[in-house]
Parts: sequence; structure tokens; C-alpha cells
Amino acid sequence: PLVLGIETSCDETGIGIVRGRTLLSNTIASSMDEHARYGGVVPEVAARAHLEALQPSIDRALAEAQVRLEDLDAVAVTSGPGLAGALMVGVGAAKGLAVALDKPLYAVNHLVGHIAADILDPDADPLEYPTIALLVSGGHTALLHVRDLTGDVELLGETVDDAAGEAFDKVARLLGLPYPGGPQIDKAALDGDPKAIRFPRGLSKASDMAKHRYDFSFSGLKTAVARWVERAEAEGTPVPTADVAASFREAVVDVLVTKALAACADLGVPRLLLGGGVIANRRLRDVALERAAAAGVTVRIPPLSLCTDNGAMIAALAAELIAQGRGPSTLAFGADSTLPVTEIQVDPA
Ligand code: ATP
Ligand code: MG
Ligand code: FE
Repeated sequence: PLVLGIETSCDETGIGIVRGRTLLSNTIASSMDEHARYGGVVPEVAARAHLEALQPSIDRALAEAQVRLEDLDAVAVTSGPGLAGALMVGVGAAKGLAVALDKPLYAVNHLVGHIAADILDPDADPLEYPTIALLVSGGHTALLHVRDLTGDVELLGETVDDAAGEAFDKVARLLGLPYPGGPQIDKAALDGDPKAIRFPRGLSKASDMAKHRYDFSFSGLKTAVARWVERAEAEGTPVPTADVAASFREAVVDVLVTKALAACADLGVPRLLLGGGVIANRRLRDVALERAAAAGVTVRIPPLSLCTDNGAMIAALAAELIAQGRGPSTLAFGADSTLPVTEIQVDPA
């Protein structure tokens, strides 16, 4: 099926068009620059930017895919989770488009969309089930057990405080580096010693005390970095930014990879899929690949352009649902900022 997907859960206005598992176009307009001076995404600014970017993005995606609106078999949209106001812009636009064109509308889960991005990778073998999936972005840190992308996704763990990307952004800020912090920390860490400072690894072991066995926590780490920097400043010693950045990054990477591979081992699943914008981190990919190989786990990493928020992954998920014979969503659904990952399609008829 030819599907157009609309993604507006955070600061990217993403419009993607797929034909089944083939990617035809994927346009992304980001309002990141407008948020930079606030050090994080400002919801109202993001919502207004979506409103402005949507129509031109749809036009561009159609032109790049060389298809017309009338050719579409379905429209897909992110219903949640994400920023309520931002989501609402996409949901409103998708409903309007579907009604005007008289096409079926699929409202889907953003997090499951991140997994669906994998099936658009033209160079990869077909996705095998079950797989463990680690999604790390500015808004989410989630470990999932995926038995079927279209029907059975279980939450194994999520962050109880900051998301991994958010931790990068906050630590960058306290080191005086600009937003978004991930790439800045990465750059600063190039000349740093990852073993210079032993920062705490919060919730690095599976725990029955946590809400979910594989929950994550990054706020303790962020606080530890803040204390360390404060103490250095109080002592009047220059802060070794490169060492702090490298040591912090090492702690985040260590926890993410340790937890993900623990889930693979505990559940007997020798497959790990990585997704989300933090996967841009070279060190995270290297450590994951290295330790997974040692543990006999195969790792899948979709192309980076499909790992960050985009509309193609939303269209891809809807195309999979259609291929499974699922009907469209009714028009009763709305934006759901806290949509649980188990709800893959929202409000199916
Ligand atoms: P959502 O959470 O809704 O998926 P988001 O826009 O917050 O969306 P992404 O666009 O997927 O998340 O990723 C952005 C995040 O990734 C930011 O927090 C950014 O700092 C982080 N990031 C980007 N590059 C790197 C990197 N090289 N290392 C670490 N973190 C990175
Ligand atoms: Mg983003
Ligand atoms: Fe996302």
C-alpha cells in the first residue's frame, strides 16, 4: 500500500511516504534551532512550528516520491506519546487529509514507529522475532520485547527520570556546551579519557524493586557530574571538559548496553535492535556491537536518518498493519501524550 505518514510528536515535522516496505520520500523540518537558546524543546514553539511546516512538507514529500494525494491508499499519524500540543497539530492535519481524500486513517504509536523504521532499511535482512529493542532519544529511553511489531510489544523498562538524550543535553549545558548536547558531548569526548572519572551507573542491574525489571535512571548521574564540576570550580582547578564528557558518556553507554544485553540473556533473545536519535553516538554503537558480539547477540541499527524522528517510520508501521489486514482507526482518537507502548494502533475500528 502507498501510505503517507505524519510525525509531529516533538520538534521534527516529519512527512514520509512508503510503498509497502519501500521508502519513497522522507522530509524532515526541525524547529531545533528555535529551541536552542532555551536549552530544550519548548512545547508551544514546537506546536507552532509544526503548523507552519506541515503543508510545505507534505507538498515536498509528494513531489519527491512522485505521487499525488489521490494515489494514496492510506494516511498514518503519530497519536502519541509526545508533546500534547505538538501531537495535536499532526493529528488534526491527518484527520483533515483523510476525510478530504476519503482515505483510511491509521493512528499509531510513536515508539513502535521507531522499531518499524528498521524494516525500511534496504540493506538489511527481514526483521526476525522476537527481538529486544532499545530506543534512546531526547524524550524516551525504553527497552522493549518485540514479538510482533503489529501486535505484541512489551515494555521491559523505561527511564524513571531523565531520558538518555535529555541527560546528554543537561550535562552539556552544565559544561557550557550548546544544545543539543549529544553531538557536543561526543565532540568534546574525542580527546577525553573515559576512565578519568568513575561516575555512578544508576539502575545498571535488572531489579525486581523497580517498576519494571529493566528501568533506567540518569538523574543521579547528571547530579554526580554537576557536583564534580562544582567541586573543581570551588577548588579553582580548571574543569577538564574532555575527561568529564568522555567519562559521562561512558557511564551512559555502559548502563544502556549492560541493561539491553541483560534482557537479551535473561529472555533468551539473541537479537537487539537499536533506535532513536542517541544512536548517533558512535561510542554507543561501538560498545553495543562489541559487547553484543561477545554475547552472541546480533545487533540491528537502522540508518541514522531513520533513527531520529521521521514520518516514514509512521507510514511503515501503518503499511505493516494494512498488510496484516488491520482496519483503519476511527476518527474518535486524539493526541495521547502518555500513550503506552503496548497500544500499537490507536482506536482501531
Ligand atoms: P523523541 O524523544 O520524541 O523520539 P527527540 O527529538 O527528543 O524525540 P531524537 O530527535 O530522536 O529525539 O534525538 C535527539 C536527542 O538525541 C537529543 O537529546 C540529542 O542530544 C541526542 N543526540 C543526538 N546526537 C547524539 C550523539 N552523538 N550522542 C548522544 N546523544 C545524541
Ligand atoms: Mg528531535
Ligand atoms: Fe522519537
